[in-house]
Amino acid sequence: MNFPSTADIIIVGGGVIGVSLAFHLTRLQAGKIVLLERKHLAAGATGKSSGLVRMHYDNPLEAELALKSLPTFQHFDELIGGDCGFVSTGFIRTAKPHNVERLRANVAMLQTLGVPTELITGDDVRTLAGYLRSDDIPLAAYEAPSGYADPYLTTTGLAQAARRQGAIIRQNTEVTGIDVVGGQVRGVHTSAGDIAAPIVVNAAGPWGGLVAQQAGISIDIDVVYHQVAMVETPPQLPSPHITLIDRENSIYLRPETGGLTLFGGSNSGENRILSTDEMDSYSDSIQPQLRNKLLERLCNRIEVMETAPIRKGHAGIYGRSRDGHALLGPIPGIEGFYLAVGFSGHGFKEAPAVGQAMAELIMYGEARVVDISPLRPTRFAEGQPYQGSHPYL
Ligand SMILES: Cc1cc2nc3c(=O)[nH]c(=O)nc-3n(C[C@H](O)[C@H](O)[C@H](O)COP(=O)(O)OP(=O)(O)OC[C@H]3O[C@@H](n4cnc5c(N)ncnc54)[C@H](O)[C@@H]3O)c2cc1C
Repeated sequence: MNFPSTADIIIVGGGVIGVSLAFHLTRLQAGKIVLLERKHLAAGATGKSSGLVRMHYDNPLEAELALKSLPTFQHFDELIGGDCGFVSTGFIRTAKPHNVERLRANVAMLQTLGVPTELITGDDVRTLAGYLRSDDIPLAAYEAPSGYADPYLTTTGLAQAARRQGAIIRQNTEVTGIDVVGGQVRGVHTSAGDIAAPIVVNAAGPWGGLVAQQAGISIDIDVVYHQVAMVETPPQLPSPHITLIDRENSIYLRPETGGLTLFGGSNSGENRILSTDEMDSYSDSIQPQLRNKLLERLCNRIEVMETAPIRKGHAGIYGRSRDGHALLGPIPGIEGFYLAVGFSGHGFKEAPAVGQAMAELIMYGEARVVDISPLRPTRFAEGQPYQGSHPYL
Protein backbone atom coordinates (compact mmCIF):
# COMPACT_ATOMS: atom_id res chain seq x y z
CA MET A 1 0.00 0.00 0.00
CA ASN A 2 1.23 3.52 -0.81
CA PHE A 3 2.43 5.66 2.06
CA PRO A 4 -0.43 7.95 3.10
CA SER A 5 0.40 11.64 2.62
CA THR A 6 -2.68 12.91 4.45
CA ALA A 7 -4.88 11.82 7.32
CA ASP A 8 -7.72 13.22 9.40
CA ILE A 9 -6.24 11.84 12.60
CA ILE A 10 -2.77 10.41 13.25
CA ILE A 11 -2.14 8.17 16.24
CA VAL A 12 1.49 7.86 17.36
CA GLY A 13 2.11 4.45 18.95
CA GLY A 14 0.84 0.94 18.31
CA GLY A 15 0.41 -0.26 21.89
CA VAL A 16 -2.94 -1.33 23.27
CA ILE A 17 -4.01 2.31 23.80
CA GLY A 18 -3.20 3.41 20.24
CA VAL A 19 -4.97 0.46 18.61
CA SER A 20 -8.00 0.77 20.89
CA LEU A 21 -8.27 4.42 19.88
CA ALA A 22 -7.93 3.48 16.19
CA PHE A 23 -10.69 0.91 16.64
CA HIS A 24 -13.07 3.39 18.30
CA LEU A 25 -12.31 6.28 15.93
CA THR A 26 -13.00 4.11 12.90
CA ARG A 27 -16.15 2.78 14.56
CA LEU A 28 -17.32 6.39 14.94
CA GLN A 29 -16.39 7.00 11.28
CA ALA A 30 -14.01 9.77 12.24
CA GLY A 31 -12.42 9.92 8.77
CA LYS A 32 -9.03 8.70 7.60
CA ILE A 33 -7.22 7.30 10.64
CA VAL A 34 -3.50 6.53 10.37
CA LEU A 35 -1.66 4.78 13.22
CA LEU A 36 2.15 4.93 13.16
CA GLU A 37 4.30 2.50 15.15
CA ARG A 38 8.06 2.79 15.11
CA LYS A 39 8.67 -0.96 15.68
CA HIS A 40 5.82 -3.47 15.72
CA LEU A 41 2.45 -3.63 17.45
CA ALA A 42 2.80 -4.12 21.23
CA ALA A 43 6.56 -3.47 21.08
CA GLY A 44 6.41 -1.21 24.15
CA ALA A 45 4.84 -1.59 27.60
CA THR A 46 1.95 -3.59 26.19
CA GLY A 47 4.01 -6.55 25.01
CA LYS A 48 5.59 -6.87 28.47
CA SER A 49 2.39 -6.30 30.42
CA SER A 50 1.30 -8.78 33.07
CA GLY A 51 -2.19 -8.37 31.68
CA LEU A 52 -4.15 -8.32 34.96
CA VAL A 53 -7.78 -7.43 34.35
CA ARG A 54 -9.43 -6.28 37.58
CA MET A 55 -11.44 -3.30 38.80
CA HIS A 56 -10.22 -2.63 42.32
CA TYR A 57 -8.95 0.94 42.57
CA ASP A 58 -8.96 3.52 45.32
CA ASN A 59 -10.53 6.05 42.94
CA PRO A 60 -13.79 5.93 40.98
CA LEU A 61 -12.44 7.07 37.62
CA GLU A 62 -9.98 4.25 37.00
CA ALA A 63 -12.44 1.75 38.46
CA GLU A 64 -15.04 2.92 35.97
CA LEU A 65 -12.59 2.72 33.07
CA ALA A 66 -11.74 -0.85 34.11
CA LEU A 67 -15.42 -1.72 34.66
CA LYS A 68 -16.46 -0.40 31.25
CA SER A 69 -13.54 -2.27 29.67
CA LEU A 70 -14.34 -5.66 31.18
CA PRO A 71 -17.06 -6.67 28.66
CA THR A 72 -14.58 -6.18 25.80
CA PHE A 73 -12.29 -8.77 27.37
CA GLN A 74 -15.16 -11.09 28.27
CA HIS A 75 -16.84 -10.94 24.84
CA PHE A 76 -13.86 -10.14 22.64
CA ASP A 77 -14.82 -12.42 19.77
CA GLU A 78 -18.31 -10.95 19.53
CA LEU A 79 -17.33 -7.28 20.02
CA ILE A 80 -13.91 -7.12 18.34
CA GLY A 81 -13.26 -10.45 16.67
CA GLY A 82 -10.86 -13.24 17.64
CA ASP A 83 -9.48 -14.28 21.01
CA CYS A 84 -7.84 -11.96 23.54
CA GLY A 85 -6.87 -14.82 25.87
CA PHE A 86 -9.11 -13.63 28.68
CA VAL A 87 -9.35 -16.04 31.61
CA SER A 88 -11.70 -15.30 34.48
CA THR A 89 -9.85 -16.66 37.50
CA GLY A 90 -11.40 -14.62 40.29
CA PHE A 91 -9.31 -11.88 41.87
CA ILE A 92 -8.37 -11.15 45.49
CA ARG A 93 -6.78 -7.96 46.73
CA THR A 94 -5.47 -7.89 50.28
CA ALA A 95 -4.71 -4.81 52.35
CA LYS A 96 -2.04 -4.07 54.90
CA PRO A 97 -3.54 -3.72 58.45
CA HIS A 98 -3.34 0.10 58.39
CA ASN A 99 -5.34 0.13 55.14
CA VAL A 100 -8.21 -2.14 56.19
CA GLU A 101 -10.65 0.74 56.79
CA ARG A 102 -9.69 2.22 53.40
CA LEU A 103 -10.36 -1.16 51.82
CA ARG A 104 -13.86 -1.14 53.34
CA ALA A 105 -14.51 2.39 52.06
CA ASN A 106 -13.17 1.59 48.59
CA VAL A 107 -15.20 -1.59 48.22
CA ALA A 108 -18.31 0.41 49.20
CA MET A 109 -17.37 3.07 46.60
CA LEU A 110 -16.78 0.40 43.94
CA GLN A 111 -20.12 -1.25 44.69
CA THR A 112 -21.94 2.05 44.09
CA LEU A 113 -20.33 2.12 40.62
CA GLY A 114 -21.61 -1.39 39.92
CA VAL A 115 -18.26 -3.17 40.26
CA PRO A 116 -18.94 -6.82 41.13
CA THR A 117 -16.85 -6.86 44.29
CA GLU A 118 -17.28 -7.83 47.93
CA LEU A 119 -15.36 -7.86 51.17
CA ILE A 120 -14.15 -11.27 52.25
CA THR A 121 -12.48 -12.54 55.43
CA GLY A 122 -9.44 -14.77 55.84
CA ASP A 123 -11.85 -17.73 56.23
CA ASP A 124 -13.46 -16.86 52.89
CA VAL A 125 -9.99 -16.71 51.31
CA ARG A 126 -9.36 -20.22 52.63
CA THR A 127 -12.59 -21.42 51.05
CA LEU A 128 -11.89 -19.73 47.70
CA ALA A 129 -8.22 -20.60 47.44
CA GLY A 130 -7.07 -22.93 50.20
CA TYR A 131 -3.51 -22.88 48.86
CA LEU A 132 -3.11 -19.23 49.92
CA ARG A 133 -1.89 -18.62 53.45
CA SER A 134 -4.75 -16.66 54.99
CA ASP A 135 -4.08 -16.38 58.74
CA ASP A 136 -2.67 -12.85 58.23
CA ILE A 137 -5.59 -11.62 56.08
CA PRO A 138 -8.24 -9.91 58.22
CA LEU A 139 -10.13 -8.60 55.22
CA ALA A 140 -9.71 -8.60 51.44
CA ALA A 141 -11.65 -7.53 48.35
CA TYR A 142 -12.87 -10.16 45.92
CA GLU A 143 -13.99 -9.84 42.29
CA ALA A 144 -15.42 -13.05 40.82
CA PRO A 145 -15.25 -12.15 37.08
CA SER A 146 -11.73 -10.67 37.02
CA GLY A 147 -8.57 -12.40 35.83
CA TYR A 148 -6.12 -11.70 33.04
CA ALA A 149 -5.86 -11.44 29.26
CA ASP A 150 -3.11 -11.74 26.68
CA PRO A 151 -1.78 -8.25 25.84
CA TYR A 152 -0.43 -9.28 22.40
CA LEU A 153 -3.64 -10.96 21.31
CA THR A 154 -5.70 -8.05 22.62
CA THR A 155 -3.58 -5.55 20.69
CA THR A 156 -3.44 -7.45 17.42
CA GLY A 157 -7.16 -8.26 17.65
CA LEU A 158 -8.05 -4.58 18.11
CA ALA A 159 -5.65 -3.62 15.30
CA GLN A 160 -7.20 -6.11 12.89
CA ALA A 161 -10.69 -4.87 13.73
CA ALA A 162 -9.55 -1.25 13.27
CA ARG A 163 -8.08 -2.19 9.87
CA ARG A 164 -11.32 -3.89 8.83
CA GLN A 165 -13.09 -0.62 9.70
CA GLY A 166 -10.67 1.35 7.51
CA ALA A 167 -7.73 2.33 9.71
CA ILE A 168 -4.29 2.43 8.11
CA ILE A 169 -1.66 0.95 10.42
CA ARG A 170 2.00 1.41 9.52
CA GLN A 171 4.63 -0.46 11.52
CA ASN A 172 8.38 0.26 11.30
CA THR A 173 7.43 3.92 10.91
CA GLU A 174 8.84 6.29 13.51
CA VAL A 175 7.40 9.74 14.04
CA THR A 176 10.42 12.04 14.09
CA GLY A 177 8.74 15.44 14.22
CA ILE A 178 5.37 17.11 14.67
CA ASP A 179 4.53 20.27 12.72
CA VAL A 180 2.75 22.97 14.67
CA VAL A 181 2.09 26.23 12.82
CA GLY A 182 0.35 29.16 14.47
CA GLY A 183 -0.74 26.99 17.39
CA GLN A 184 -2.36 24.36 15.12
CA VAL A 185 -1.10 20.84 14.36
CA ARG A 186 -0.36 20.44 10.66
CA GLY A 187 1.05 16.89 10.50
CA VAL A 188 4.03 14.70 11.25
CA HIS A 189 7.43 13.81 9.83
CA THR A 190 8.25 10.11 9.89
CA SER A 191 11.05 7.77 8.94
CA ALA A 192 8.97 6.87 5.85
CA GLY A 193 7.76 10.33 4.77
CA ASP A 194 5.57 13.24 5.86
CA ILE A 195 1.84 13.10 6.57
CA ALA A 196 -0.39 16.18 6.77
CA ALA A 197 -3.14 16.01 9.41
CA PRO A 198 -5.01 18.46 11.65
CA ILE A 199 -5.11 16.08 14.63
CA VAL A 200 -2.27 14.06 16.22
CA VAL A 201 -2.73 11.83 19.27
CA ASN A 202 0.33 10.97 21.32
CA ALA A 203 -0.18 7.35 22.44
CA ALA A 204 3.54 6.59 22.63
CA GLY A 205 3.48 5.06 26.14
CA PRO A 206 6.73 5.60 28.05
CA TRP A 207 8.10 7.46 25.00
CA GLY A 208 5.19 9.91 25.33
CA GLY A 209 7.43 12.59 26.84
CA LEU A 210 9.77 12.46 23.83
CA VAL A 211 6.87 12.63 21.36
CA ALA A 212 5.38 15.57 23.28
CA GLN A 213 8.71 17.38 22.93
CA GLN A 214 8.35 17.08 19.15
CA ALA A 215 5.26 19.29 19.47
CA GLY A 216 7.20 21.68 21.69
CA ILE A 217 5.72 20.74 25.05
CA SER A 218 7.19 19.20 28.15
CA ILE A 219 5.22 16.66 30.17
CA ASP A 220 6.20 15.05 33.42
CA ILE A 221 6.38 11.27 32.79
CA ASP A 222 8.76 8.97 34.65
CA VAL A 223 9.91 5.85 32.85
CA VAL A 224 9.47 2.96 35.29
CA TYR A 225 11.37 -0.32 34.92
CA HIS A 226 9.33 -3.32 36.10
CA GLN A 227 10.39 -6.98 36.25
CA VAL A 228 8.30 -10.16 36.42
CA ALA A 229 9.14 -13.83 36.86
CA MET A 230 7.46 -17.14 36.12
CA VAL A 231 7.61 -20.52 37.84
CA GLU A 232 6.04 -23.84 36.98
CA THR A 233 2.76 -24.02 38.87
CA PRO A 234 2.89 -26.84 41.44
CA PRO A 235 0.32 -29.61 40.79
CA GLN A 236 -1.29 -28.92 44.19
CA LEU A 237 -2.80 -25.70 42.74
CA PRO A 238 -5.91 -25.80 40.56
CA SER A 239 -5.73 -24.67 36.94
CA PRO A 240 -6.35 -21.82 36.62
CA HIS A 241 -5.52 -20.61 40.11
CA ILE A 242 -6.61 -17.25 41.49
CA THR A 243 -5.21 -13.84 40.47
CA LEU A 244 -3.96 -11.99 43.54
CA ILE A 245 -2.59 -8.63 44.60
CA ASP A 246 -0.96 -9.31 47.95
CA ARG A 247 -0.09 -6.04 49.66
CA GLU A 248 1.33 -7.71 52.76
CA ASN A 249 4.04 -9.39 50.68
CA SER A 250 4.17 -6.66 47.98
CA ILE A 251 3.59 -9.08 45.12
CA TYR A 252 0.95 -9.88 42.54
CA LEU A 253 0.42 -13.16 40.76
CA ARG A 254 -1.70 -14.85 38.15
CA PRO A 255 -1.66 -18.05 36.12
CA GLU A 256 0.16 -18.00 32.80
CA THR A 257 -0.43 -20.32 29.88
CA GLY A 258 1.81 -23.37 29.73
CA GLY A 259 1.24 -24.37 33.35
CA LEU A 260 3.08 -21.37 34.76
CA THR A 261 2.49 -18.79 37.48
CA LEU A 262 3.53 -15.22 36.69
CA PHE A 263 4.45 -12.91 39.58
CA GLY A 264 5.82 -9.42 40.04
CA GLY A 265 6.64 -7.04 42.85
CA SER A 266 4.88 -3.89 43.94
CA ASN A 267 7.61 -2.33 46.12
CA SER A 268 8.28 1.05 44.60
CA GLY A 269 12.02 0.71 45.34
CA GLU A 270 12.18 -2.31 43.06
CA ASN A 271 10.66 -0.45 40.13
CA ARG A 272 13.51 1.91 39.32
CA ILE A 273 13.23 5.02 37.14
CA LEU A 274 15.17 4.97 33.87
CA SER A 275 16.69 7.97 32.15
CA THR A 276 15.63 8.66 28.55
CA ASP A 277 19.06 7.36 27.45
CA GLU A 278 18.30 3.98 29.04
CA MET A 279 14.79 3.60 27.55
CA ASP A 280 15.87 1.81 24.44
CA SER A 281 18.76 -0.14 25.91
CA TYR A 282 17.49 -1.62 29.18
CA SER A 283 17.96 -5.33 29.92
CA ASP A 284 14.71 -7.13 29.32
CA SER A 285 15.51 -10.11 31.52
CA ILE A 286 14.80 -10.21 35.24
CA GLN A 287 17.77 -9.78 37.58
CA PRO A 288 18.31 -13.08 39.47
CA GLN A 289 18.63 -11.28 42.81
CA LEU A 290 15.24 -9.62 42.47
CA ARG A 291 13.69 -12.81 41.15
CA ASN A 292 14.85 -14.66 44.29
CA LYS A 293 13.44 -11.93 46.53
CA LEU A 294 10.09 -12.09 44.75
CA LEU A 295 10.08 -15.86 44.94
CA GLU A 296 10.62 -15.72 48.68
CA ARG A 297 7.63 -13.40 49.02
CA LEU A 298 5.56 -15.66 46.78
CA CYS A 299 6.38 -18.60 49.07
CA ASN A 300 5.21 -16.54 52.07
CA ARG A 301 1.76 -16.58 50.52
CA ILE A 302 1.79 -19.98 48.78
CA GLU A 303 4.05 -22.34 50.69
CA VAL A 304 4.05 -25.06 48.03
CA MET A 305 5.74 -22.63 45.63
CA GLU A 306 9.00 -23.61 47.37
CA THR A 307 8.96 -26.66 45.10
CA ALA A 308 8.24 -24.68 41.93
CA PRO A 309 10.98 -24.67 39.29
CA ILE A 310 11.84 -21.19 38.02
CA ARG A 311 11.13 -21.00 34.29
CA LYS A 312 11.63 -17.47 32.97
CA GLY A 313 11.25 -13.77 33.56
CA HIS A 314 11.33 -10.47 31.76
CA ALA A 315 11.38 -6.73 32.27
CA GLY A 316 9.54 -3.87 30.64
CA ILE A 317 8.95 -0.15 31.03
CA TYR A 318 5.87 1.97 31.50
CA GLY A 319 5.25 5.70 31.82
CA ARG A 320 4.18 7.08 35.22
CA SER A 321 2.69 10.50 35.79
CA ARG A 322 3.10 12.62 38.90
CA ASP A 323 -0.20 11.50 40.48
CA GLY A 324 -0.10 7.94 39.14
CA HIS A 325 -2.93 8.41 36.61
CA ALA A 326 -2.96 8.86 32.85
CA LEU A 327 -2.86 12.19 31.01
CA LEU A 328 -5.88 12.18 28.72
CA GLY A 329 -7.02 15.03 26.53
CA PRO A 330 -6.05 18.05 24.46
CA ILE A 331 -3.19 20.43 25.08
CA PRO A 332 -4.41 24.03 25.21
CA GLY A 333 -2.46 26.27 22.85
CA ILE A 334 -1.74 23.45 20.38
CA GLU A 335 -4.98 22.91 18.53
CA GLY A 336 -5.31 19.29 17.41
CA PHE A 337 -2.69 17.78 19.75
CA TYR A 338 -3.94 15.19 22.25
CA LEU A 339 -2.27 13.05 24.91
CA ALA A 340 -3.16 9.50 25.93
CA VAL A 341 -0.05 8.62 27.96
CA GLY A 342 1.20 8.05 31.52
CA PHE A 343 -0.99 5.09 32.46
CA SER A 344 1.28 4.41 35.42
CA GLY A 345 1.12 0.62 35.27
CA HIS A 346 -2.67 0.35 34.86
CA GLY A 347 -3.28 0.94 31.16
CA PHE A 348 -3.88 -2.54 29.79
CA LYS A 349 -7.11 -3.32 31.62
CA GLU A 350 -8.47 0.19 30.92
CA ALA A 351 -7.55 0.33 27.22
CA PRO A 352 -10.95 -0.56 25.72
CA ALA A 353 -12.76 2.24 27.59
CA VAL A 354 -9.87 4.70 27.24
CA GLY A 355 -9.92 4.24 23.45
CA GLN A 356 -13.65 4.86 23.41
CA ALA A 357 -13.45 7.88 25.72
CA MET A 358 -10.64 9.48 23.72
CA ALA A 359 -12.45 8.86 20.42
CA GLU A 360 -15.59 10.52 21.82
CA LEU A 361 -13.56 13.42 23.19
CA ILE A 362 -11.98 14.04 19.79
CA MET A 363 -15.23 13.62 17.86
CA TYR A 364 -17.79 15.23 20.18
CA GLY A 365 -15.68 17.41 22.46
CA GLU A 366 -16.57 15.25 25.49
CA ALA A 367 -16.07 11.66 26.57
CA ARG A 368 -19.38 9.91 27.09
CA VAL A 369 -18.50 6.41 28.24
CA VAL A 370 -16.62 7.76 31.29
CA ASP A 371 -15.96 11.39 32.22
CA ILE A 372 -12.17 11.56 31.86
CA SER A 373 -11.91 15.32 32.42
CA PRO A 374 -10.30 14.85 35.90
CA LEU A 375 -7.34 13.34 34.00
CA ARG A 376 -6.90 16.36 31.70
CA PRO A 377 -3.20 17.04 31.12
CA THR A 378 -3.50 20.57 32.55
CA ARG A 379 -4.54 19.35 36.03
CA PHE A 380 -1.06 19.69 37.52
CA ALA A 381 -0.66 23.29 36.34
CA GLU A 382 -4.13 23.93 37.81
CA GLY A 383 -3.03 22.42 41.15
CA GLN A 384 -5.59 19.61 40.82
CA PRO A 385 -3.81 16.26 40.69
CA TYR A 386 -6.30 13.41 40.74
CA GLN A 387 -6.84 11.24 43.82
CA GLY A 388 -9.64 9.09 45.25
CA SER A 389 -11.19 9.78 48.66
CA HIS A 390 -9.51 6.84 50.44
CA PRO A 391 -6.05 6.44 48.92
CA TYR A 392 -4.02 3.47 50.15
CA LEU A 393 -0.91 4.44 52.09
C1 LIG B 1 6.05 -5.38 33.11
C2 LIG B 1 4.74 -4.66 33.04
C3 LIG B 1 3.60 -5.20 33.65
C4 LIG B 1 2.36 -4.54 33.56
N1 LIG B 1 1.26 -5.13 34.09
C5 LIG B 1 0.03 -4.57 33.91
C6 LIG B 1 -1.14 -5.24 34.35
O1 LIG B 1 -1.07 -6.33 34.91
N2 LIG B 1 -2.35 -4.66 34.09
C7 LIG B 1 -2.46 -3.43 33.48
O2 LIG B 1 -3.58 -2.93 33.32
N3 LIG B 1 -1.34 -2.78 33.06
C8 LIG B 1 -0.13 -3.31 33.25
N4 LIG B 1 1.00 -2.67 32.82
C9 LIG B 1 0.85 -1.37 32.18
C10 LIG B 1 0.35 -1.51 30.78
O3 LIG B 1 1.05 -2.53 30.11
C11 LIG B 1 0.51 -0.19 30.04
O4 LIG B 1 -0.18 0.85 30.77
C12 LIG B 1 -0.08 -0.22 28.65
O5 LIG B 1 0.41 -1.33 27.93
C13 LIG B 1 0.29 1.07 27.94
O6 LIG B 1 -0.04 0.94 26.58
P1 LIG B 1 0.35 2.12 25.61
O7 LIG B 1 -0.26 1.79 24.31
O8 LIG B 1 0.02 3.42 26.25
O9 LIG B 1 1.95 2.10 25.56
P2 LIG B 1 2.96 1.11 24.81
O10 LIG B 1 2.48 -0.27 24.81
O11 LIG B 1 4.31 1.41 25.36
O12 LIG B 1 2.88 1.61 23.31
C14 LIG B 1 3.52 2.78 22.86
C15 LIG B 1 4.08 2.48 21.49
O13 LIG B 1 4.56 3.68 20.92
C16 LIG B 1 5.65 3.35 20.09
N5 LIG B 1 6.40 4.57 19.85
C17 LIG B 1 7.18 5.26 20.72
N6 LIG B 1 7.71 6.34 20.14
C18 LIG B 1 7.24 6.35 18.86
C19 LIG B 1 7.46 7.22 17.75
N7 LIG B 1 8.25 8.30 17.86
N8 LIG B 1 6.84 6.91 16.57
C20 LIG B 1 6.05 5.82 16.45
N9 LIG B 1 5.83 4.97 17.47
C21 LIG B 1 6.42 5.24 18.66
C22 LIG B 1 6.40 2.29 20.88
O14 LIG B 1 7.22 1.49 20.07
C23 LIG B 1 5.25 1.51 21.51
O15 LIG B 1 4.91 0.35 20.77
C24 LIG B 1 2.26 -3.29 32.89
C25 LIG B 1 3.39 -2.72 32.28
C26 LIG B 1 4.62 -3.41 32.34
C27 LIG B 1 5.82 -2.82 31.66
